[in-house]
Formats: sequence, C-alpha cells, structure tokens
Amino acid sequence: MAASEVVILGGGVGGLATALALARSGIEATVIEHAQSLPPDYWGFVIWPPGMRTLQSLGVFDRVQTAGCKLTNYRWYTGNGREWMAIDLRRLADVGEWNGILPSRLVNILQDEAERNGVRIIRGAHYSALDRNGSGSFKIEYSVQGNNLSLNTRLIIGADGPHSPLRQRVGLKSWRWRPPAQTIVTGIGGGLLFNELRQAIGTRWSGGCVALGGNKSWLYATIRQPGGDAGLQSVQAYGLLDQQAKGAIDQLVNVIEVRPWSVHVHRWASDGIILMGDAAHSMLPHLGLGANLTLEDVPALVEVVGQALRTGDTSAKKLAEFQDRRKSRVAYARRVSELWALSITSRLPGVRFMRDLNFLRLSKHQGAMETFLRELAGSESPRLRTRLNVWLP
Ligand SMILES: Cc1cc2nc3c(=O)[nH]c(=O)nc-3n(C[C@H](O)[C@H](O)[C@H](O)COP(=O)(O)OP(=O)(O)OC[C@H]3O[C@@H](n4cnc5c(N)ncnc54)[C@H](O)[C@@H]3O)c2cc1C
Repeated sequence: MAASEVVILGGGVGGLATALALARSGIEATVIEHAQSLPPDYWGFVIWPPGMRTLQSLGVFDRVQTAGCKLTNYRWYTGNGREWMAIDLRRLADVGEWNGILPSRLVNILQDEAERNGVRIIRGAHYSALDRNGSGSFKIEYSVQGNNLSLNTRLIIGADGPHSPLRQRVGLKSWRWRPPAQTIVTGIGGGLLFNELRQAIGTRWSGGCVALGGNKSWLYATIRQPGGDAGLQSVQAYGLLDQQAKGAIDQLVNVIEVRPWSVHVHRWASDGIILMGDAAHSMLPHLGLGANLTLEDVPALVEVVGQALRTGDTSAKKLAEFQDRRKSRVAYARRVSELWALSITSRLPGVRFMRDLNFLRLSKHQGAMETFLRELAGSESPRLRTRLNVWLP
C-alpha cells in the first residue's frame, strides 16, 4: 500500500503552502484535493506582510509579486465620495508589503512549486474512510475517477476550508457567528488605473476595489439586503464615487453573493490530526486577513509537526502547541474583523456613530492608523495600548 509521512486534506492556499514547507524541510507530504481544477475566482486576495513573509520563505515571493501587484496605498472614503483617509503603505515598508492577487494565480504558483519540490498532489480525489491502525497511524481510503485507492500516513492535516468535513468527521467542536442580514457581493473586474485598496463606507453599505495585477481587480460591496439586481448595483455604486475605478467596474460581468461565517473552533487537534487555515479559524473577510492568517500558520505548523514526527509523539496534546502559538494572534484579528463587519451594516443604535467618530479621530491622527495597520500586519498580538487607542474614541 502507498504511504506518505503526512497527508493534507485540501489543496487550497493553506494545504499547498504547508505541503511545500514540509517538503522543503524534508518531510514527505501528499495533498488530497477533491476539486479537479483550480478554484474559480470570485474575489481577490490581499496578502498582508506576514503572509508575504511566508511566501518569501517558500521561495515564491517574486512569482507572487509578478502574478499580482504590490499595493501602494489604502484609501478610505465616506459614502458620498469624500476622501476620509489615505495611508501610504510604502511608509510601512519596514513591516513588509501588501500584495493583491487572484486566488487561482496564487494556488497555481504554490501547486507548481510544491510539485517541483516532490509533493504529490492528487486532484479530483474523494476520501471515504480514515481508519486508525494499531500503530497509531492512519489508513485513508479514497477514490479518483472511480478507482479505489488507499494511503498510509502518520499524520493528517486538515486544510479543507471553513466547512471542514474533516473537523466534522473527527467531532472537533465549533460555533459560528456572522453579522445579521449582511451579504457580501463580490466579483472580478478589469484593470485599475492605480495599485491601491480603496473602500467607501456609507450608511449600511460599503464598497471598494483592489488592484490584483494583470488587468484584473477585485470589486465588492457589503450590503444589508440583496434582491433583484441590488447586488450588482451595489458594486457599481462605488464607480459613481470613484471615477478612476469606473473603467474596471464597467468590465464586471458577473458577481456572486456570499454570507461567510466567523468559525470558532475550540480545539484544533486530536490524536494524529491537526487543523489549519480556515478549517481551524475561518473569519469574516472584511479586512482581507483569512488567507494571510492561513499563510502565517505555516511556519509554526511545520515546526510543531516536524517535532511531533521526530519524537514519535503525534498526540493531541503535542499538536495543541500549534494552537497555543497562534491563538492570541488569531483571536485579535478575528475580533477586529468581527467589529468591523458589524459596524458596516448594523442597525444597533450608536454602532455607526462610534465607527464614524473613530474614523474621524483616526483621520486626524494618521499615526494612530499607521500603528493600527502595523500591529494588524504583525505576527504577534498587539499591545493593550494600541487596542485601546484604536477602539476607544
Ligand atoms: C469574499 C471573500 C473575500 C476574501 N478576501 C480575502 C483577502 O482579501 N485576503 C485574504 O487573506 N483572505 C481573504 N478571504 C479569505 C480566504 O479566502 C480564506 O481565508 C482562504 O482561502 C483560506 O485558505 P484555506 O486553504 O484554509 O481554505 P480554502 O481556500 O477554502 O481551501 C480548502 C480546500 O479544501 C478543499 N476541500 C474541501 N473539502 C474537501 C474534502 N472533503 N476533500 C478534499 N479536499 C477538500 C477545497 O476544494 C479547497 O480547495 C476572503 C474570503 C471571502 C469569502
């Protein structure tokens, strides 16, 4: 029977980056992915500096930069198009770079590099059983194009996304939250005239655009109630405020409506099994941090998995070290993205007032906003002073 030291279920950004990192540290990895082809693009990725650092350590930084684009400014507007604040991301160069890229391009680069480093990627595969052998290892049964196959492994990594069938199968408990009645409308438009992230924030509506390189852009809106053409119109509404983005928006042919969850998973590991990326900590996409946090997971995960394999201790207790190392950073990013998401469409009295007051204050003290971005872009949990400074007007 075929064998692989580690099997990764899920070949998205997290699964492929982990497989590549394992292969580079001499650990044999196989990826089992149920989709036959690369994911379709409905949104763009903003990869924050820590994610770019992981990509650098994996040797794909230059390819990602070429396939996407380095973002130079983050601009916020009011709902009537007045510029609220602009942060020159080049002033934060000491923290690293922000990059926009299409998900399929990033996955393609990681897949290509992983295969070049000896990772076996099995696409179009459906696993049906994970049986524990007497020795503590697993036998995974799966099928590809009607052929039934099996694979022995010492450790399974669940990188199978926010709904994580593995998490459910193993019984790792989770609960989820999202802002009431909120929908994100998202699509890919044509090229922008600038390499920036821009976002307008109005009353129960927010819309924006991000340059993704290669004549592509991510166009989105967050609204309270879709229906009819409301989705597409809400994205197009941004073009009325930002004439420079209008050309890209005119090329938008298709949008989808999504209602993502913030998924809180109590324990990320059980004996011989560990979750990462969205399977462990899926969060609301409003700050564009999900794939970035997934990439941030990789170095810590590979270290813990490497030690576990070397010492022969793949118990839940040993693997929990990964969660211990990541939990405060993930909790902070989650809190900020949840608050941010809630403030966009909330009907709760005072929430919008507090949000706008904060924005007004931050726009007058750009240093505070830069500090906030710096901390959000850092790998560690921020200092209490920064949290208070940002959230208390
Ligand atoms: C609208 C929107 C905008 C976003 N914008 C950003 C952004 O700007 N920046 C950012 O960093 N993040 C963003 N995100 C979040 C980002 O998409 C996720 O955090 C990221 O894709 C997580 O990567 P992952 O590899 O953990 O999971 P996924 O990308 O979900 O990959 C999981 C993989 O597992 C596979 N799979 C599932 N079940 C099985 C199974 N049973 N067997 C085998 N394979 C399986 C799936 O096919 C998939 O390929 C956004 C999300 C949304 C919804």
